[in-house]
Amino acid sequence: MDMDRIPFLDLRAAYLELKPQIDMVVARVLESGWYIGGTEVEAFEVDYAAYTGAKYCVGLGNGLEALHLALKALDVGSGDEVIVPSNTYIATWLAVTYTGARPVPVEPDEHTYNLNPELLEAAITERTKAVIPVHLYGQPADLEPILDVARRHHLYVLEDAAQAHGACYKGKRIGAHGDAVAWSFYPGKNLGAMGDAGAVTTNNPEIAEKLRMLRNYGSKVKYVNEMVGYNSRLDPLQAAALRVKLGVLEEWNIRRRELAALYLEKLEDTGLVLPFIPDWAESVWHLFVVRTKVRDEFQKHLEARGIGTLIHYPIPPHRQQAYANLGLPEGSLPVSEAIHREVVSLPIGPHLSLEQAERVIEAVQSFTWAPS
Ligand SMILES: *Cc1c(COP(=O)(O)O)cnc(C)c1O
Repeated sequence: MDMDRIPFLDLRAAYLELKPQIDMVVARVLESGWYIGGTEVEAFEVDYAAYTGAKYCVGLGNGLEALHLALKALDVGSGDEVIVPSNTYIATWLAVTYTGARPVPVEPDEHTYNLNPELLEAAITERTKAVIPVHLYGQPADLEPILDVARRHHLYVLEDAAQAHGACYKGKRIGAHGDAVAWSFYPGKNLGAMGDAGAVTTNNPEIAEKLRMLRNYGSKVKYVNEMVGYNSRLDPLQAAALRVKLGVLEEWNIRRRELAALYLEKLEDTGLVLPFIPDWAESVWHLFVVRTKVRDEFQKHLEARGIGTLIHYPIPPHRQQAYANLGLPEGSLPVSEAIHREVVSLPIGPHLSLEQAERVIEAVQSFTWAPS
């Protein structure tokens, strides 16, 4: 391996920084003889609820199941419509599809890339049951107007916060603005496990209670099944590791913020469209997403200089074969389609050094921004 290469994200470095603590808690779980649920899961749920400012946290198997089971807990099902952003990772849509409901896309604001609240009302029909704002790339969606419209139309709001651990909307941490908030702890997220993991936070005790049953075969009392449930439990090994990593989340988010500030300052006069963060939003910079019409050349230029980039995401959900049945042709959601054609993510993460970021900046500056 080329040691000078700057990877898009260095997950091994994240483990090595915390190796003594993580190894210790993993050994503790293994030696406990208790491998499903139990004190490790409960302790993480308490800690994560406190961190997000929510009353309840229910640990689940992964982020997709957090979205899916939260929709089930909100009684979303066949015949319902759920409003989703056109610009998101496909998981947001899949969770809706699993319930039998139909995902109805709404275009993003072209500066923040998050759901445009002004377009929300026009997408509501008699069948609409819920809306899922996504805090994409680590930046909170504009929740106030979304919650406003939702309240007026008696819709549930489920937030997809898979990329937004620690992000703040108008000074308040993401965690309980909406009826429920779904989290992913996929290893590459700001708070990442050593495998799959997820959770839902909420202030509503009935939703929390229902999720506790749904994740465990629809059962509260062993062998008594009150509903058709699932098996989607947070693994105690993951819970134990997540508790260690929760202890450094703020510090690691600060490192991301410093890198983002440096990028924003130094890349201002390049040909890139830089991220736009409204003053009411505090992003946790899960991704640093820039935009250019010459994406292929730009990516090749960085790759030739040993810099890893990724695209989040190359194909919008409505243009995936999986959603061909929705009949949304090319051009039907043009704001999202343009974003998908032009975005590219620069390396960012708690283990990217300032020296490495400087190298990324030099590489971007040395690109010839010929008008195309
Ligand atoms: C990662 C992610 C998910 C899914 O999380 P998993 O834990 O991988 O199932 C859902 N929505 C968004 C926006 C994500 O980034």
